[in-house]
Amino acid sequence: MLVDIVPVGEVPADVKREGSAALRSVYDCDVRVTEDQRVPSGAYNEGREQYRAEDFIQLARRTGTGDKNIAITTEDLYYHRRNYVFGLAYLDGEGSVISTYRLRDEHDRPAADGGAAIDDGFSERDPADVFTDRVRKEVVHEIGHTIGLEHCSNNRCVMSFSPTVREVDVKEENLCGSCRREVL
Ligand SMILES: [Zn+2]
Ligand SMILES: [Zn+2]
Repeated sequence: MLVDIVPVGEVPADVKREGSAALRSVYDCDVRVTEDQRVPSGAYNEGREQYRAEDFIQLARRTGTGDKNIAITTEDLYYHRRNYVFGLAYLDGEGSVISTYRLRDEHDRPAADGGAAIDDGFSERDPADVFTDRVRKEVVHEIGHTIGLEHCSNNRCVMSFSPTVREVDVKEENLCGSCRREVL
């Protein structure tokens, strides 16, 4: 399998590099990074101040020539009624996208009324490392959908549904045994 990463907008070099490395380590695949693409202006929703995720998937499919193609952007994405998405892919499709925009969020922000942050072992880590891990997991997750994997009930599995960074931080970068058996 060949995967093309399609950077859209100003995507930092380490994001491209980590995304490539994660895909290579989890799937038996080659990865290429295409030239940077301009953010599709038609994808912007002024009312929401966000970009429509599907447009980035289409751009990935037009630009990439891999078996699978994944757009990576720093812009904030939405999909239908979801307030935001970290990424989007069609099951068994050729295109997908991830956004790093909300992957920089803090894991446990203390509540404004003085609630204490939970010490879950993540708070001690360098925020840059936490961010990098999330990028890697989300890239692996979306490509997982494109090769036919649906969401997994194992919250440690990279295919578990992660609507907030909390779930992203709990899961690991790898496929669980049963997901692995389905595709590898
Ligand atoms: Zn998913
Ligand atoms: Zn799984």
